[in-house]
Order: sequence, then C-alpha cells, then structure tokens
Amino acid sequence: MDTPDQLLRHAAAALSAALGLPLREARLEAQILLCLALDKPRSWLIAHDRELIESAPATAFAALLERRQGGEPIAYISSEREFYGLSFKVNPDVLIPRPETELLVELALARLPEHRACRVLDLGTGSGAIAIALAKLRPQAAVTAVDLSHDALEVARANARRLNAANLEFAEGAWYAALPPGSRFEAIVSNPPYIAAGDPHLAQGDVRFEPPAALASGADGLDDIRAIIGGAPAHLSPGGWLLFEHGYDQAEACRRLLQQSGFREIASAADLAGIARVTLGRYG
Ligand code: GLN
Repeated sequence: MDTPDQLLRHAAAALSAALGLPLREARLEAQILLCLALDKPRSWLIAHDRELIESAPATAFAALLERRQGGEPIAYISSEREFYGLSFKVNPDVLIPRPETELLVELALARLPEHRACRVLDLGTGSGAIAIALAKLRPQAAVTAVDLSHDALEVARANARRLNAANLEFAEGAWYAALPPGSRFEAIVSNPPYIAAGDPHLAQGDVRFEPPAALASGADGLDDIRAIIGGAPAHLSPGGWLLFEHGYDQAEACRRLLQQSGFREIASAADLAGIARVTLGRYG
C-alpha cells in the first residue's frame, strides 16, 4: 500500500508524460482524481498524508488515472466544473464551461438593470452556465435558455435546480425558432460554436471529447454567429444588446457583421489572455 504522496507523485509523472502537462498542473489533476477515488475533499489529503490508501480506492484511482491519461477531460471524469463561482454538473452532452466565457457574463451584467425586471435570452445554453450565472446575479431578470440538444437541456435544467435558479426557463430548438413568436429581450447572449470545420484545434486536448455541434460552425466558423446576428434585430427590445463569444481571430469579422445588420455601439472586449473574445452591439 502507498501513501497519498507516493500515489500522487507517480500519477503526476504519468499524467505529465501522457498529456504534456506541466508537473504542477499534473499533480493538481492527480489530487482531484485521488479525492474522487477516496470520496474525500482535498483538505483530507493534506491532513492524512501519511495514511496508507486501501486497495479499493487505490484501484479506483488507477482506473480514473487511466481515463485521464487517455485524454478524457478532468471535468467529464469528475462531472463538475466551476464557472463564475458556481459549481456546474457537466457530461459529454455539453461543452465544458471555460474561464474566458466569464467575460461574456461580466459584460452582460454591466448592461442589465439591477433593480427592475428585464428579459434575457441565452442561445445555445449547453450546461446552462451563462444563463444560470445571469439568473442568479440578476434575480429580477427573466432568463430564457435555448438549446438544440435535448440532452444538453437536461443538464442545464438539472444545474438550474441544483443552483436554485428559479427565474429561468428553457426552450428546445434551433436558435430563435425555439421561441414563441414575437418574443423580445433586453439582452441576447451566446457562446455559440465558432471553430472552423477542419481546424486542427478540434483534434487536440479536451475538445476531442466535447460535442462537435457545440464547437464547429461551417468553413469559416461563423455560420452560427451569422444566424444569431441576423435574427437578433427581430428579437431585441429597442436599444437591446447582443453579446457573443467568438474565436481569437474573428473579432473584426464579427464587428463588420454587426455593422451590416444595423447595430450601433459596436465593440470587442479582450479576455484575460488579451485576446478579443467577445463582441457586442446595440440595436434600435
Ligand atoms: N473556446 C472553445 C475552444 O476553443 C470553443 C468554444 C466554442 O466554440 N464556443 O476550445
């Protein structure tokens, strides 16, 4: 039998070699997997670093480690990912929430009234991360979350229940076609698929395990963004905002598309890595 430290040292080296991760990151992932196998919080590891690990959890740990060495995202193995300070359940039916998408939430919050009712639409909600974060932080807002995937909506609904987001409803369908006719919103937000089909990025790392329909969008990656921009004027209240995430090299094209559709106050904002990641504009 081994101590946690012995197990972690071996696992971190193996993960680092298999996935090309820096050792620190590999060690952190190994800790997450060991905690899952032990069904204990991370604090337990620190307090019990000399305790010998029984064979049942050690075997469970080896199995989790093997999955991760095969490239399966840690969020799918642990069924969990934190986003905007909230813990979301995830599975391979939904994209794993990314830290850069928090920028979209921040920019939307800055444009939503705090003390009066408003209507917000999230297109392609996936796990519900954006819609639920907005619903929690703007309790007076009525948020509608749309997805084409029935299975994704099940995940989003379960997250809304777990996180007690009541001011939220769900609709299944293709973008605006999921909505009752005549629906209008003060803000429309989206993290749509935006990777160009055939982009080598689709064959690397976590994205290999994520739903292709949540990632790729036509030859230039802009098919869904064009559909979202095109339908927005008919679904925004006067002066309403459209905000969406896009790829690292798409900001200029997105601003041009907004301009062509008659939007004003068009701007792009950079994520923490300094990459223009969200573009927004107002209509009417
Ligand atoms: N940002 C993700 C990635 O590049 C893609 C997410 C998306 O297409 N909306 O891995």
